[in-house]
Amino acid sequence: MNFKEYNFNNKRALVRVDFNVPIDSQGVVTDDTRIRMAIPTIKKIISDGGSVVLMSHLGRPKDAPSPEFSLKQIVGSLESLLERKIIFISDCISDSSLETTKNLENGSVVLLENLRFYKEEKLGDKDFASKLANHADVYVNDAFGTAHRAHASTSIIADYFPNDKMFGILIENEILSVDKVLNSNSHPLTAIVGGAKVSSKITIISKLLDKVDHLIIGGGMAYTFIKAQNGSIGKSLVEDQYLDLALEILQEAKDKGVQIHLPSDSLCCKEFSNELPTKVRPINQIPEDEMGLDIGPESIKAFNEVIVNSSLILWNGPMGVFEMSNFQNGTGSIAHSIVKATENNAFSLIGGGDSVAAINLFKLGSKVSHVSTGGGAMLEYLEGKQLPGIEAINN
Ligand code: AMP
Repeated sequence: MNFKEYNFNNKRALVRVDFNVPIDSQGVVTDDTRIRMAIPTIKKIISDGGSVVLMSHLGRPKDAPSPEFSLKQIVGSLESLLERKIIFISDCISDSSLETTKNLENGSVVLLENLRFYKEEKLGDKDFASKLANHADVYVNDAFGTAHRAHASTSIIADYFPNDKMFGILIENEILSVDKVLNSNSHPLTAIVGGAKVSSKITIISKLLDKVDHLIIGGGMAYTFIKAQNGSIGKSLVEDQYLDLALEILQEAKDKGVQIHLPSDSLCCKEFSNELPTKVRPINQIPEDEMGLDIGPESIKAFNEVIVNSSLILWNGPMGVFEMSNFQNGTGSIAHSIVKATENNAFSLIGGGDSVAAINLFKLGSKVSHVSTGGGAMLEYLEGKQLPGIEAINN
């Protein structure tokens, strides 16, 4: 069923959103991106003449209500972004909550309390899902960030709406963007992978070798590849148990005609600190008492060259410890190169928690083609896995 073509007039739509936003100790939402991204879906339902019941999780409560994880804290942000009052219900399945949604007037927007106050949500409990389903006539999944989970509200609930289930605008865009990278024949296709660990990115790297022309590897994981090739990496991050695997990946890339680009230089420091002097070193000649915390200027130049000449770009994971100002330059430069390529008509997809945080830090999110809201979900989708939240709607 197509969301944009569906007429919500007189319908109550139960919308699974991802309002799992960061909230500070004063209860203030510090980044409202996820709320903002859900607004088009909500507005379309209202403008059709329907009503909306929103449900989400927030954080990791211990299967019971607790004020620090209450969605009540986001009501102000939601109301100002939506420019209308909303009705907050302090329990997602109580009789009184069902009473409220039973008699909803068209144009109303309801927000249910955190789904994860019930352990049944993560367990994918059928009974819990059926209670949630009683809130509405139509089910809309617009939470890409949790699409890889078979939870009650993301997957099991779809069974209760066999003829009235669909993706919202946000998920639809996410799928279109990832499919574009997966199915496109545009070349060169460049994947940039960074972040701390090889281990968490192995599956995606292997999968990418079948697709990409260039694979740029930066961040902490690069040192495992350098050490595997007998480089001296000092105290840099390394996963010794993956040295053989790193060599296998390099060989596989060669066999498949994929060009791998590893950093040639590294910005080093004696400690994991923003306070001590830094020095650029060849990445395979780092002294025993130093560690590489960012890519160096030569690597930036080489990576930039590959990126600006690409037609399709996928980026996951920072090039260095971008949380510290001394080691931001590599990640920032890569972000700017991606923007430059996008201006030259490349399609760029940024995904995975830390690369999204990085692109937002440099305020470049609006200058790339698509920033995915679902880190884990996006990676699993790219790996070719079936996501329960997507399957539940498609089947
Ligand atoms: P991941 O969650 O695997 O994408 O890793 C992201 C984290 O990797 C960020 O917190 C970065 O600070 C960290 N990181 C990136 N480069 C390095 C490096 N050279 N040494 C240590 N940590 C790094």
